[in-house]
Amino acid sequence: MDKNFKCPVCSAQNLSLLFNPTIQPQYPRAYYLCDGCQLLVSDLDFEKILGARASSGYYESLDTENIKSKFQRVMSMGPKESDNWTRVRRILKNISEFQSSFGLVQGRRALDIGSGTGVFAARLLMEDSSWSVDCVEPDPRACLHIQEVVSNASVFCGTLGQCENLQTYDLITLNRVLEHLPDPLIIVRQIKTLLNPGGVVYIEVPDLVCYSLFGADAPEFGVEHLSIWSPQALICLIHQSGLIDLQTARYHEPSGKISSVIYATNLADLKVKRACG
Ligand SMILES: [Zn+2]
Repeated sequence: MDKNFKCPVCSAQNLSLLFNPTIQPQYPRAYYLCDGCQLLVSDLDFEKILGARASSGYYESLDTENIKSKFQRVMSMGPKESDNWTRVRRILKNISEFQSSFGLVQGRRALDIGSGTGVFAARLLMEDSSWSVDCVEPDPRACLHIQEVVSNASVFCGTLGQCENLQTYDLITLNRVLEHLPDPLIIVRQIKTLLNPGGVVYIEVPDLVCYSLFGADAPEFGVEHLSIWSPQALICLIHQSGLIDLQTARYHEPSGKISSVIYATNLADLKVKRACG
C-alpha cells in the first residue's frame, strides 16, 4: 500500500487490509477498511479504472440500444420486483415525513446525479407528477436517451463540476454513484451549494456487509467500485461536508443487493418548535 494512501472520507491513514477481490483478476487490487469511519477503499489507481472502462465493456454497456433495452426492462418490472420503484416510493414516503416533522422539502424540484438510463427520473415523475427533475449524466449517449424517455427533464451532460446553469433543488439524489468516484467528499460539498432552503440529499451506495454475506467474488467488488460503504461511513461523509444526517438505513433490495442509504440536510433549515413541559 502506498504510504500516502488515506481514507477519502475521514482522511485517516490507519486502514487495514481486508481482502483481495477475486473477480476481474486482471486488475490486481485490495480493499482496505478504514478504522476511522468503516469505509472500504480500493487501492486501484483511478487511471487504471479508466483503462478498464475502455476495455471491459463499460462503454459497450452504455450503447444506445442497450440503454433503451435496460430502461424498458427495469420500467416493466412491478413495484415489488424493481429496486428502482422501491427506491422511489421509500424516498417519497420519507420526504413526506421530513416535511411534516421538520418543515423540510417545501418545493418539488429534484436533481438526479449520475442518472444512467434515467429510470429514477422517469419513475419519480410517474409516481408524483408534481415534481420536476433535472438530470446530470456524463455519458453523452445516455443523455440523449434520457432526453428522449423523460422528455420534460432538463439533462445536463457532464460531471457535476462541469455543469453550468444548474438551478437549486429541494431533493438531490445520488443513486449508486459515489462508489465510482475517487473523491466522494468533493461532490457532496458541491451538492450542498445546490440545495434550496429545506432541501434534502439522498445517497444510496453498496453496503460492506455484502463481503460477509457473499464473499470476495461478489459483483459489488468489481473494478469500478472504488469504495464500499456503511451507514457509519455515510454519516462521516455528511458531517465532513457540513450537512447533518436525518436518517440512515440498510436495505435488502428486491434484486438481492444490500444498500446503505442516508438522507441529509442543512441543520439551520430544520423548523422545530418545543412545547412547554
Ligand atoms: Zn475513514
